[in-house]
Amino acid sequence: MVKKGEMAALTDGKEVFSLLISGEVVKAKPFGIVDTSRLLDMVWGEEVEINERTYTLLHPSLADRLCAVRRKAQIVTLKDAAVIVARTGIGGGDLVVEAGAGSGALSIALCHAIAPSGQLVTYEIREDFAAIARDNIAAAGYSHISVIKMGDVSKSIEEREASAVVLDLPEPWGVLDNAMLALRPGGVLAAYVPTVNQVERTVRAAREKGMFQVLCTETMERELEIGPGGARPSYSSIGHTGYVITARRP
Ligand code: SAH
Repeated sequence: MVKKGEMAALTDGKEVFSLLISGEVVKAKPFGIVDTSRLLDMVWGEEVEINERTYTLLHPSLADRLCAVRRKAQIVTLKDAAVIVARTGIGGGDLVVEAGAGSGALSIALCHAIAPSGQLVTYEIREDFAAIARDNIAAAGYSHISVIKMGDVSKSIEEREASAVVLDLPEPWGVLDNAMLALRPGGVLAAYVPTVNQVERTVRAAREKGMFQVLCTETMERELEIGPGGARPSYSSIGHTGYVITARRP
């Protein structure tokens, strides 16, 4: 059943639209004015009529949650978020520390991995980004397992015994001392950076600090289009996003 604070995905059979079930009357695209309390306690898979159009209520996928993100900063893509989640190995119940929040897209992917009982603590230095990320995380239905703290992670991280520290900020090498203090032994640091220069500095610093299993990869994704005449790679693919570096604390 649909519970208050959850995100629902509604499909008209063609497209999927997300809606936060806040229990309040909201204005949301493409529905118009919706009284979301009508959807409370409905069963997933049920049909609902909103402003004379019929939708089927679906459990949201991670992609549905990410599609709803209003973006100000450049957001992490699904393929890179997937590698970060896989290599940090985070799952239900884990404590994860992240910086910065940006638009909160990576935060949502991390919450998706640690829900329903984990905790994500995200540090952010800019109030405007923190506000956007908070709204996006709430719209994705993850406010209950996420907190955004105002602060600079190169100065301090309060948490201890974290399973992972995930960094998407310009100078991850300046955060390694604090990240190592926050991680539990064997915990994984992940840094996402767009340039090779940042990769080199981060990897060298991680080795100097005595971190082990230091690994940097780039993930390339190519979509295949299956058409009536045959199947071939899409002509438009994303050329470059970023590199993922992971390293473990002894
Ligand atoms: N991963 C995010 C995008 C992050 S953009 C997403 O998917 O939406 C980088 C963010 O890091 C910016 O919001 C910036 O303000 C913040 N930031 C930069 N340096 C920081 C630091 N030292 N501590 C905390 N946040 C920082």
